[in-house]
Amino acid sequence: MAMKNVIATPEYRQDTLLEEWWNSCEKGNLLPALKKHWRIFVLSVFGNNHDPGKEERLAHKFLFRPMEYFLCRQDPEVVFEELKAKNMPSQLCGKVFKTGEPTYSCRDCANDPTCVLCIDCFQNGAHKNHRYKMNTSGGGGYCDCGDQEAWTSHPFCNLHSPNEVNQDEKNPIETLPVDLTDRASALFMAALQYIVEVLTWNQCDNLPSDLQVEGELNDTYITMLFNDEVHTFDQVIKTLQRAVKHCTAQQAREFATLVDREGRATVYRGCFTSCEQCRTIIDSTSRHGSKPLKVQVMHTVVVAHQTFCLRLMVWLQKMIEKSDGLRRLFCLLSMKPQEDGKSLMEKLLLHDTQLWKVARILSHQLLMAGVLMDQECKKQFAVIFTKWYPNVMRDFARDDHDHEVCVASLSVQIYTVPSLARMLVTDHDLLDVILVPFLAACEEKKNANGVLSLSKADRTPSFKRACFMLYDLKYALLCKPTSDEWSDKLRESFLRGHQSFLKLLKMMQGMDEVKRQTGMHLEYEPEWEGAFNLQMRVDDVISSFTEWCSTDRTVYIEAYKQAAQMLSQCRDTTQKSEQHTVCGHTVKCLKYDVQSQPVSIHLPLSRYLAGLHVYMGDYNLQFGCPELNVQGLDPVKMIEPPLKVQVLIAQSQAGLWRRNGYALLNQIYFYHNVKCRQEMYDKDILMLQIGASAVDSNEFLIHLLNRYGLLLWIRPEYDVPTGQDDNVRQTIMLAEEFLNLLLIILGERYVPGLGQVTHEDTLKREVIHLLCISPMSNSELSKNLPDSTNLKADIEDAIHAVANFRKPTSVGTAGSGKFELKNECYKEFNPYFYHYCRTDQSQAEETQIKRKKEEKSANHTLPPPVPPKFTPQFAQISNLLQSDVLVHILSLILQRSVAVRSRSWSETQLDRVLHLIGLALHEQRRNIHEGNHNFDFIGKALKGEPNFTQLLESLVTDPKNISHDSTKDLLSWILQKFIEVRQMTSSAEANGPVEQLASSSKEENEAAKKRKARLAAKRKEKIIAKISQMQQNFIRDNADLFESTDADSSLTRGTSEMDISESAHHETPVALGKYQSLPCSIGITKATCILCQEEQEISHNSRAMVLAGFVQRSTVMSQCKSRNPTDGENLDPLFTSSDLHVGSFTNSCGHTMHADCWQSFFQAILVKERRRLSRIPHSLSYNIVQLEYLCPLCESLSNTVIPLVPALHSLVTDSDLCDVNLSFGDWLDGLQKTVKNATKQESTSASKGDPFPFLPSSLSSITKMMADSVASNFQLLWQYVNNTKGGRFSESLMEMMKKFAKDVYSFGLGVDPDDMNHRVSIVAWNTCAYTIINLEQYLRYENKPLFGASPSRNVDCINALVKFAAVCSHIMPQEVIKKHCLRLLSGLLSNGLGEGDDPQCIIDVDMFHYLVAVTMALPSLYTEGTTASNLPLNSLNNQYILELVLTAHIVQVMLLHDRSQDGEEGKGWVLLYDRSQDGEEGGMEMENDADSVALMSMYTEIRRKAGCLPPSNNDPLPWQLTRHIKRAVLPFLRCATVLYHNLTGVPIPAQLQEWTEEVEPFCSYLSLPTSFSELFLNQGELLERVVNQWCSSDVLRSRLYSASSRSVVSYPLPVNHLIDLPDDYSQLINQISSFTCPSSKGNDSQLPTMCLVCGLVVCSQSYCCQTEIKDMKVGAATEHTYRCGAGVGILLRVRECQIVLLAGTKGCFIPAPYVDSYGETDQGLRRGNPLHLCKDSYKNLQKMWFTHCIPETVAHNIESHMNLMSIHWQHL
Ligand SMILES: [Zn+2]
Ligand SMILES: [Zn+2]
Ligand SMILES: [Zn+2]
Ligand SMILES: [Zn+2]
Ligand SMILES: [Zn+2]
Ligand SMILES: [Zn+2]
Ligand SMILES: [Zn+2]
Repeated sequence: MAMKNVIATPEYRQDTLLEEWWNSCEKGNLLPALKKHWRIFVLSVFGNNHDPGKEERLAHKFLFRPMEYFLCRQDPEVVFEELKAKNMPSQLCGKVFKTGEPTYSCRDCANDPTCVLCIDCFQNGAHKNHRYKMNTSGGGGYCDCGDQEAWTSHPFCNLHSPNEVNQDEKNPIETLPVDLTDRASALFMAALQYIVEVLTWNQCDNLPSDLQVEGELNDTYITMLFNDEVHTFDQVIKTLQRAVKHCTAQQAREFATLVDREGRATVYRGCFTSCEQCRTIIDSTSRHGSKPLKVQVMHTVVVAHQTFCLRLMVWLQKMIEKSDGLRRLFCLLSMKPQEDGKSLMEKLLLHDTQLWKVARILSHQLLMAGVLMDQECKKQFAVIFTKWYPNVMRDFARDDHDHEVCVASLSVQIYTVPSLARMLVTDHDLLDVILVPFLAACEEKKNANGVLSLSKADRTPSFKRACFMLYDLKYALLCKPTSDEWSDKLRESFLRGHQSFLKLLKMMQGMDEVKRQTGMHLEYEPEWEGAFNLQMRVDDVISSFTEWCSTDRTVYIEAYKQAAQMLSQCRDTTQKSEQHTVCGHTVKCLKYDVQSQPVSIHLPLSRYLAGLHVYMGDYNLQFGCPELNVQGLDPVKMIEPPLKVQVLIAQSQAGLWRRNGYALLNQIYFYHNVKCRQEMYDKDILMLQIGASAVDSNEFLIHLLNRYGLLLWIRPEYDVPTGQDDNVRQTIMLAEEFLNLLLIILGERYVPGLGQVTHEDTLKREVIHLLCISPMSNSELSKNLPDSTNLKADIEDAIHAVANFRKPTSVGTAGSGKFELKNECYKEFNPYFYHYCRTDQSQAEETQIKRKKEEKSANHTLPPPVPPKFTPQFAQISNLLQSDVLVHILSLILQRSVAVRSRSWSETQLDRVLHLIGLALHEQRRNIHEGNHNFDFIGKALKGEPNFTQLLESLVTDPKNISHDSTKDLLSWILQKFIEVRQMTSSAEANGPVEQLASSSKEENEAAKKRKARLAAKRKEKIIAKISQMQQNFIRDNADLFESTDADSSLTRGTSEMDISESAHHETPVALGKYQSLPCSIGITKATCILCQEEQEISHNSRAMVLAGFVQRSTVMSQCKSRNPTDGENLDPLFTSSDLHVGSFTNSCGHTMHADCWQSFFQAILVKERRRLSRIPHSLSYNIVQLEYLCPLCESLSNTVIPLVPALHSLVTDSDLCDVNLSFGDWLDGLQKTVKNATKQESTSASKGDPFPFLPSSLSSITKMMADSVASNFQLLWQYVNNTKGGRFSESLMEMMKKFAKDVYSFGLGVDPDDMNHRVSIVAWNTCAYTIINLEQYLRYENKPLFGASPSRNVDCINALVKFAAVCSHIMPQEVIKKHCLRLLSGLLSNGLGEGDDPQCIIDVDMFHYLVAVTMALPSLYTEGTTASNLPLNSLNNQYILELVLTAHIVQVMLLHDRSQDGEEGKGWVLLYDRSQDGEEGGMEMENDADSVALMSMYTEIRRKAGCLPPSNNDPLPWQLTRHIKRAVLPFLRCATVLYHNLTGVPIPAQLQEWTEEVEPFCSYLSLPTSFSELFLNQGELLERVVNQWCSSDVLRSRLYSASSRSVVSYPLPVNHLIDLPDDYSQLINQISSFTCPSSKGNDSQLPTMCLVCGLVVCSQSYCCQTEIKDMKVGAATEHTYRCGAGVGILLRVRECQIVLLAGTKGCFIPAPYVDSYGETDQGLRRGNPLHLCKDSYKNLQKMWFTHCIPETVAHNIESHMNLMSIHWQHL
């Protein structure tokens, strides 16, 4: 009833309408005329809820086509073509990126990382040969190709290279015809006005009167639901189902998707009352949290016009893209101020956050296609945008949409253009424009002290959103002016911005102050992350400001003064001072106690000033010079804040701040971390160095000592115990930290401006010290180096300068290579490198000592490296080394080292002192070389009593207090050095004692060496013992690794194949027929239970033993990937389809257990799990409901146990297999009679619905129909089946057989367990066949022999499966097996194949599955009673079965001979029969032997019967045919060999233990003729009849000749592999970027995921593509996996560059097989290096998939990453 008011489409004549429009246009009021038309037609087109196609047609006819005619006055297509011709070839690519498209950036040429290329431009340009980065676009943004400002070189690709002719700028509007220009102006203006009017209209139930339809409005309303960021999909879906009448789950899901994608959706249409009702329900039932869903009732007419607006914007975009002139015209009009002073564009801009998502996106796209594509207009737009920047950002901060759908995101398009940014900074105060609103946002966050306080409790996101402005600031500063680009105007404007920026830093200075907790621990962890986040965002801006300042003297001076003044405002003026005297130097120190007063780790203002300070030298300025005269700029005060931080950290190291908890530890961690240290720790050190260069050295040290609280410690008397002072330990550590700080202040000179170094040197030094820890891969290095964007040197250059790349050692393993430091760089190693954390330091030292030892260098010392020279401004720092205070400290510690007892000494102190002395000696030597005699460390060191020489000597001779060899080594080195330098100063005296000392230390060394050697020997012994034990454990734990080498002692396997073949090598073994060789024992004969460690013989009547096993459905060998696995419930598995589209696979880890041991083990898991489930669901990596468990030894995923049956021949007596004289023909005849007899009886029996229309007949009733001699032999043949001599199986073995059969049935078919189902035994046979085929295919793929190459767990598993298949008839009623057997036989011997989906004709049956089933079932055919010993061991029966099945297989091969060429499925995989290849072999034909000729005539005959075309040129030559047949049946023969070998135990001949493609050895083992024609000839007319019957079936004919029918296979079956992937990863990204979500008409898919099995791409982990399987909501990937891989899948998430493995409802992620040039994968494309396919890892994935290891891999991954458990994998 809601739809009753359909508005009839009104009368309409285009020419009258156009005439009217043209007339009004000339009069200057086009808009009213347009509106008059629109108010009728907009409603009729968009207000009637037409289907999209119809709406589209109507819109074109009534709305857009008239406008196009209006504009052109003739056929629009013609006019547009003409206009296009006038366009200048665009130099700008400007391609707008869709989500997921690849983008490229050149690291050599891009001006900044936001400059990107699209794939076309990249591939047609020069940058592909440069060092580039690749990424996927998040949507938005466009290609910068052709933008000269974006690239330092090669700005154009070949597609966009500039056209010289059109270089002169010409106004493109002038190329338009004048009248067209007039009409276009009027139309564009009118359209824009209309758009702005409608989109800014904010009433829901009516429109401006000139758009309103005349008369009363119809009662047709819409309930509109809007997007928000609060509600989840599920909440929205639930609410909708409740609120909207008749809303299905599917519809609700579609609405929710639409709302999410477009920002709003119509959820209900109807009269006002019902719409309002719907709205109320939504409003009242959706209060999750506090906010209900936003929902509005709107009148249809309003929505119709809004819809038209959106379409109109798209149309306008299309129009302006047609011509440069139209574009320019449109841009100018849109920016033209209206009566109120604002242009239409400004109105849209300011209204942005009022619009819903899709309206915003379209208006931004219109902007991008318009103003941003036109250089001239872009400039104007930039000015407008900047003018409204504060408003736009204010709206943005209050809004809740993502940044990229807000107009604020356009800033990146403008401010990253250097010329625009420069123009805006100079003329429009851009820096200040950005900073002022940001400061305003900060104002709200200030605390009482005027400092920012970013507490977590405040949950409004507006500040976080405001922080986007910092990006804009960064962009605006990207392009630094060179020294001659500065103008007064720029200086002025920059300094204004600078001042605002300093205000921000001032607000940050002192954030999150900490105060030492005493007594109680902190109650709650204070907030610290917010401040660090802000700091990290400001980092880039800080360095940009510093760099700008460094390019102009005037600016530098002003900026420095501004910063210094701002800093002096921060100072605490109330601070008191006190006097201290050390070594005769008295200093007035500031009073402050870090232990009791607050300290902040955030000092951006101090640090900024320090950063500026290093440039002073560039302008010949110095501290306190008149130009820089700032009130209150006192270096002593400047070092205070950073010094406090150092003391705080030292105290924390000393354990004084334990009660302050993790918040402080985290702050300290990040303070030093590579992400933050550049603008924190490094700058603090710099500030202290500035202090050390500006303050008198003694005074500086006293300030430090005072702040560290060490003034007492440096008094000699401190060492005298006073009885009570328990702070000594802390003082020792503080002293160590103090010495460390001195080492850093003196030794860290790798800052350009401070030391005489370049930026490259700095970076190299970082790399050297990282590589001193250990060799590192490229990604490890880059993770530990500062962000490359802030560096002024190239990371890669630095790395290559100091290191060599070593490729991964072992070929074939997928792994990354490592960088190793070049030898000559090791001397730069400094253990006190300030970026080392404690672990780094000790690890590096260890590595370096080890390296020295390995080099066998006599000297293991790691001496302090020679530091670079300070620049003149900082030269004063080295003066510290010869200051009275330091020399005093050094001497004091040396004395304490020598002393017998010292309570305040530590070896660490000594080590640091020695390094300081080393530094002093380096310094002294340099000064001597330079002829500078002012530096006299040696002189001062020799003054005291005892002097340094004496102290050092006594330490070297008697190092009793020193425990570390490294310190001793260093000591000797220092002494040596000291004496050397002393000699250089020429004040040296005797050098006698040195030699003495050296020798004595040598003796000492000798003794120590001996002692060490003794210790080492002892240690070695211990280690060896330990290793051998570990080895054993390892072998046990990693049994599968050792299996192929047979090192596993827990299993005794029957004599291995090798031995047998040797002992019997005089005669090649034969497995079947009259001449069957003697069997031997194969498989497991004796096993140790891994649970109770007891060893036991495998026998049929004792305690059963089992193998851990895993059964799964599988599609890996499917020859028809488009076919879905048949539902297990309805599957008739007796005849397996030849395309192997689904099967059940069983594997085992090969570990044996007692059945009862396993049962109690599994029970225990169940109990434990049941208890746990109630508390924590999903806590296991395996699914207990699915009976899954992990093998108790190797943790392989298992879900069943395979019973171990003893060797079959041991279960029968020899007399069972007596001599029978029966021909193949007679045997076949007997069987056919049996089948016919059974079928005949069926027709008389009434049971029509019986799925098994057979009534087995007794043997005697068959022999009755035979000739006497035949009958007796036939009787004799079956005698063994009723022989009950063989013992009965033990109860426990029977139980396990039942258990395994049940599991195979339920997991193999994916159905509920059902003991009594007649299919149980069939599935057991099938899993045996399927597993063998899989092994055969895998080994064929790898070109490996069948025997001897596969791991013993596979061998054991197959052996167990075959034996189980042979005995599983014991657990079924004999009647059922008999019926199966009859059905099987009738399949080949009469017309007994199935119907429908089942195999229907000979080519549909997989012959190996058939062979296994019939072999296992045949012995039951004539059994009587229930206790038959019907083992399939009769060699004649087996031989004839094989002959029959092989004959059938050859017929298949002949019928399908020519399929290999045209089978679509097979294409590109393995092509088997290639004529051209044959011809190449010597260019001559092979001899056609008799066999070939016979086969050829058979071939012709068979094909004729099947209705194939008469012989033609296409047919093979006889020799070609033979060859093809042999090749095609080889896999079957290989499988049969595996089967009969395991069944009979006849050993494998030596020939077959190597890879061979010959059929002959297989034939002889299987007792088959090598001339296949013999299988057909002289076998009696019955066989002939049977073959005829196969070939003359109608089904066969239609299958072969009608194209539509099910596809047929070709032999040999090709081995499946995963799809081919391109070498270049970006190709894949590009390929996938055009993928759209299949269920929401052409929309982007967030996570396109590609199935690597079939290549299909699905829209994963998204509501839009969710479906249901068995009442469970599943994502598209799971759904696909269910169909494509029977629940197991391997998929590639293309945008993330990662592989998803899925197994049921579990899964895991692993890296995609793509690596960069360093051999490293890049999950998530974080680094962006070009990636190429790693063939080896892809091959490993292929192997994992094909050998069914995905579930196993998933379980293991989950086991080791428990967080994977929480992912809802089924939603992927
Ligand atoms: Zn491009
Ligand atoms: Zn280009
Ligand atoms: Zn380049
Ligand atoms: Zn046991
Ligand atoms: Zn195991
Ligand atoms: Zn989708
Ligand atoms: Zn697939």
